[in-house]
Amino acid sequence: MRMSEAFVPTLREVPAEAEIVSHQLALRAGLLRRSSAGVYTHLPLGYRTLKKIMQIIREELDAIGAQELMLPIVQPAELWRASGRWDAYGAEMFRLKDRHDREYCLGPTHEEIITALVGAEVDSYRQLPLSLYQIQNKYRDEIRPRFGVIRGREFIMKDAYSFDRDPEGLNETYERFFRAYQRIFARCGLTVHAVEADSGAIGGSHTHEFMVLAEVGEDRIVHCPQCGYAANVEKAVAVPTPWPVTASGGQAEAVATPGVRTIDELEAFLGVPANRMIKTLFYLADGEPVAALVRGDRELNEVKLATALGATRLEMAPPERIEELTGAPVGFSGPVGLSGVRIVADHEVVGALDAVAGANAADAHLIHLDWGRDFAADVACDLRTAVPGDTCPSCREAALEGASGIEVGQVFQLGTKYSEALGARFKDAEGKEQPIWMGCYGIGVTRTMAAIIEQHHDDDGIIWPVTVAPYQAIVVPIKATDADQMEAAKKVYEQLWTAGIDAVLDDRDERPGVKFKDADLIGFPVRITVGPKALAEGRVEVRWRDNRREERPLLSEVVGVVQAGLRERARF
Ligand code: ATP
Ligand code: MG
Repeated sequence: MRMSEAFVPTLREVPAEAEIVSHQLALRAGLLRRSSAGVYTHLPLGYRTLKKIMQIIREELDAIGAQELMLPIVQPAELWRASGRWDAYGAEMFRLKDRHDREYCLGPTHEEIITALVGAEVDSYRQLPLSLYQIQNKYRDEIRPRFGVIRGREFIMKDAYSFDRDPEGLNETYERFFRAYQRIFARCGLTVHAVEADSGAIGGSHTHEFMVLAEVGEDRIVHCPQCGYAANVEKAVAVPTPWPVTASGGQAEAVATPGVRTIDELEAFLGVPANRMIKTLFYLADGEPVAALVRGDRELNEVKLATALGATRLEMAPPERIEELTGAPVGFSGPVGLSGVRIVADHEVVGALDAVAGANAADAHLIHLDWGRDFAADVACDLRTAVPGDTCPSCREAALEGASGIEVGQVFQLGTKYSEALGARFKDAEGKEQPIWMGCYGIGVTRTMAAIIEQHHDDDGIIWPVTVAPYQAIVVPIKATDADQMEAAKKVYEQLWTAGIDAVLDDRDERPGVKFKDADLIGFPVRITVGPKALAEGRVEVRWRDNRREERPLLSEVVGVVQAGLRERARF
């Protein structure tokens, strides 16, 4: 490609619409442009990188025997009704009607479509196992699209689905995908951490997320520096810490706390630390009210609560309902004397002494509360969100450390949830009908591109890993109007292509400073400069973007030098 003809609209200024560095650089380097909220155009340079990422994905998935297909984006509502997700998916689903008033959605994911397909086509154990994948646009009307293509409403995803005869087969397939994912991300130049995750609304039991650690990441992770345990905080087992005081404070007592509703206000008002308070939160679990108790300074984990209750739907109780249950306005709830509601306590609250909680009366709290004497729960379990500093639940020795991550991929064991709902069965060797055991495996392709930039940049711009750079090399004649320089530059450029290296020729009649700035901003792994001084000696200048190292090989050696440098950098 010649820069003089290229559609690469670079920007000098940091665009106001971009909050994070990967988004800023993607706009500035001319990789993408916003069309509407969360919807982007991928310009030629950005699309080249996306195609390279997709090619790596294809190679690794083909290598484990998965087959690529293309499923429809427009999906009929009936399938989603059959799985129960037409309603459950909520506002995130883009819905539409055709001219006959039939309902459809734009696929946010494809479990329904593919399960129906495989259910209709597969009937014998001989046709299993089977793994299928596609790379396609997905549509999710995200409540807060942001960070450019990290959270878009239209984005490219690779989604794969596996079909096995039994749980053991599914386990093996899952392992194969897991290892393929590690290779894919490594080849993209990404350092990822596979963390245990919660399966959320998609169902199933066993799942890992592949996280790129980054400050801007929306997922919170805890990991153990000693044993390597790593999990999303939504999933991480929280090891309880002992209650901070070891003696009863005497008889329970009501104190007036006019207008004091929050934990912070109560801390200031009573001079009691939050870790001696009991937070009482009301939920409706499949419509039934429950009160959940956690220490005042802890965050209740709704996924853990739903799991503990075996609830499929969990929502916070509305204020009217709380008032009805406690007889007091919101902000003064507590576990003492509660009736008509199931009480679930976090482990840490069990054995509490000299604690503070709402009095279930307006403008009042109770102090000196003791577990067992003044209040108790129907169930005690792990209810809180893990935090850095917690004891590692795996080795029980080190303290967990915290990090933020961008989820670039996720692997799930779905089990038989979708095959049962959509009737995807096969006949086993004995001729008995069995549901197919399924897994699903996603990679956010556009999000992966952003995560690569997030992990590989400096003040001057992007530093593409050589495997996913839009072009690997740029050849820059210092003065494009100088016939000798241009001639030599063109020759190098052509030799690079002949050697299988994709290169750009910056033949623009611009100052060298401008061209160098653009080259650094776009992040070509290597720049070959053809200038008058070096050329007089038959040499060129080779400069690597990552470590800024410079070499001055002879013109005849330049391709070899570039090839060697690229090869060294492609070793993962
Ligand atoms: P998140 O929790 O970030 O919303 P998810 O759990 O909903 O992600 P999956 O349904 O597992 O995501 O989708 C598979 C992959 O698709 C994710 O790992 C992520 O890389 C990507 N992805 C999901 N939502 C988006 C989005 N709105 N924009 C870009 N990529 C996305
Ligand atoms: Mg999501």
